[in-house]
Amino acid sequence: MQSPLLEKILKKVEKPARYVGGEWNSIQKNWDEVAVKMAFAFPDVYEVGMSHLGLQIMYHVINSREDALMERVFAPWIDMEEQLRQNQVSLFSLESHRPLRDFDFIGFTLQYEMSFTNILNMIDLSQIPIRSKDRGGQDPFVIAGGPCAYNPEPLADFIDLFVIGEGEDVTGELLDLYLDWRNKKETRQDFLMRAAQIEGIYVPSLYRVNYREDGSILAIDPVEEGVFKRVTKRLLSDFDQAPFPTSPIVPYLGVVHDRMMLEVFRGCTRGCRFCQAGIIYRPVREKSPETLLKQAEELVQNTGHDEISLTSLSTADYSQVRTVISELLNRYASKGINISLPSLRVDAFSIEMAKEVQKVRKSGLTFAPEAGTQRLRDVINKGVTEEDLINAVSGAFEAGWSSVKLYFMIGLPTETDEDLDGIARLAHKVVEIGTEKKVPRNRLKVTVSASSFVPKAHSAFQWEPQDRLEELKRKQDYLKSKLRGRQIVFNWHEPEVSFMEAVFSRGDRRLGAALEEAWRLGCRFDGWSECFKYDKWLEAFSRTGLDPKWYAYRRFKYSDVLPWEHINPGVTKKYLEREHKQAMAGHLTCDCRKEKCPGCGLCPSLDVKIELHGGEDNAPL
Ligand code: SF4
Repeated sequence: MQSPLLEKILKKVEKPARYVGGEWNSIQKNWDEVAVKMAFAFPDVYEVGMSHLGLQIMYHVINSREDALMERVFAPWIDMEEQLRQNQVSLFSLESHRPLRDFDFIGFTLQYEMSFTNILNMIDLSQIPIRSKDRGGQDPFVIAGGPCAYNPEPLADFIDLFVIGEGEDVTGELLDLYLDWRNKKETRQDFLMRAAQIEGIYVPSLYRVNYREDGSILAIDPVEEGVFKRVTKRLLSDFDQAPFPTSPIVPYLGVVHDRMMLEVFRGCTRGCRFCQAGIIYRPVREKSPETLLKQAEELVQNTGHDEISLTSLSTADYSQVRTVISELLNRYASKGINISLPSLRVDAFSIEMAKEVQKVRKSGLTFAPEAGTQRLRDVINKGVTEEDLINAVSGAFEAGWSSVKLYFMIGLPTETDEDLDGIARLAHKVVEIGTEKKVPRNRLKVTVSASSFVPKAHSAFQWEPQDRLEELKRKQDYLKSKLRGRQIVFNWHEPEVSFMEAVFSRGDRRLGAALEEAWRLGCRFDGWSECFKYDKWLEAFSRTGLDPKWYAYRRFKYSDVLPWEHINPGVTKKYLEREHKQAMAGHLTCDCRKEKCPGCGLCPSLDVKIELHGGEDNAPL
């Protein structure tokens, strides 16, 4: 792109730093010397995308290859989109400011269903046909991965291929294949056909979905020989020694998580029944303390950040958490570097740890009891008791915290008003404890956040309907009326957004029509409350003759063919069915890292095992 034009555009937009690149540790290779070019496309703004560890990992992995480059692109904010369209400028990458259509691949990460319209918008702004069937020889391959790829169907019409599971190894295989394919001068279809034979690659155009008269799915089958009947997720062969970015890009703009990210382990075995992440990231694989300390050292040297965040789905579960935290504090506390644990469990151990790590700087404490009564916490297999919460909160107030956040979900299967009363009762009890512990009244604050349950593919609750919109609103109002008091702040999610999330999280490929229509009607940044246009979404559904309620409120039968049936996370459907029945009976399932293996099927089917570095004895209780 011509720089005078870029300058002209950037003068007219909010936060131009979102689009210019050139940050510390960013990599700009010589375009003409590199054989294969990939753009990492994050379908949200820079500040959100730059907080995503997956971007930094893939950027590091691909740019480590001599024959490849990866550049970044984020969703342009509304003002920037206007400028691009007015000036007929194609969406461009941050590093070289090249139009996206010049790349060989555009790779989207799918973190959240409500960013799907941004994906269509970014493809269109790149001046590439939005439907994969309309793309030709000169167009890049549009690929996608990430958690939402585990139900890829709503995007099936727009994405050439999906990567299921961990992308580190498989993306390299894909690039090798691409180079070979390009040398042979084969057709676009040939590439897709060959890619579909790589484990972990799903090419939606090579599958046919047959429907019954009532609209449910009869079968999902490959249309070509040699294409997997089910696509199994990819896992890294050696997580401890896997490539990790210890020279991550350091943004110049304030981003959502402005800190070093140290990934401690992958997976979670706690088995919360609403949680998709707990299934798709299995098995648990920890890094050794030596690896973590070495990576921390390099991060500190290479970034200048003043906080190390120990990331994973549940960091307090790391078997050597005490050792690693105390060593990090020894090394860095005196340099003013803070350690943060984004996910804490509701127990005294977590408080002890939080006290340790927050010696440098104190930030807020969040606990997630998820449900207000023990009965419902057992249904979701949360595995925490009220006593745990009370002890944790008491410990927090004693240690000098004056505000805590409590995170709940409403609309969970089997929920009644008693469970909502339980949320209110717990919140008031926490206020009482704060008062008892002599937290000054003007500082004592209990924030209650209640999100709405969204059934997710590959979770034990995948068969469950979402509560109707009116019911979610009633429950929110009910809670509002019960959560009065100067010390309590109540936050909730817009139920209409959760409704759309439910539609897409369990949707099939017919939804592509509604998605495209919504985008044409102007839907963008649907996860941002100031941008979400519910009326446009309803109009899009009505124009395309699809009923969103059928998707969100349907209870699947165990015998139904689910729209994501052909995607295999390694955990068996039988296990999820058993877990669902256990939920309905209010029975708990144990954690395979601590007790016996409850048989989710993953380890035998993918020939892997959980990898702990502290041994069972060292694991926190
Ligand atoms: S197969 Fe057993 S040990 Fe392996 S992840 Fe599943 S429950 Fe855990």
